[in-house]
Amino acid sequence: MLKSTKIAIALGGNLGNPEENFRIAAQKLIDGGCEELQTSRIYRSAAVDCVANTPDFCNAALCGKWKGSALELLHLCQRIEREAGRPAEHSQREARTLDLDIILFGDEVCDTPELTLPHPRAQNRRFVLEPLSELIPDDRFPDTGMKIAECLRKSSPKI
Ligand code: AMP
Repeated sequence: MLKSTKIAIALGGNLGNPEENFRIAAQKLIDGGCEELQTSRIYRSAAVDCVANTPDFCNAALCGKWKGSALELLHLCQRIEREAGRPAEHSQREARTLDLDIILFGDEVCDTPELTLPHPRAQNRRFVLEPLSELIPDDRFPDTGMKIAECLRKSSPKI
């Protein structure tokens, strides 16, 4: 039997209809094999580190169980992003229909050209921590040992 890994994913988007894109993404993750999916509510925040006049972002979090590898989950997320209209080649600073980041993949810690776990910028990004702490406040980042709720308390109100 395949091992089931607890996963957490952050969703973001500021083009088109992010709420609808988030709903479709959650359904596609379920269709792709994600089990016991839980979803946070949707948060809205001003764009950080983006070009001038970038629309506000919507953010949310999902957690669930995944039976495949982390790379298989990454590839599913990337397919869902492309199907939502996000070009495969994109700048991190531009507006986007849908962004899916794997924040936690069980206790896995890795840093490869394709995948870094836990997500490298998650522990001080309020727009990631706030929705995630609704679902799994007491889960810890395996590299620092910090709880999600603890990181949220320490994060700057501006990011
Ligand atoms: P972004 O523009 O934020 O969607 O970043 C996408 C790039 O980040 C892709 O090239 C991914 O291979 C890479 N990446 C590295 N770690 C992660 C992660 N934990 N979750 C999602 N993408 C990741």
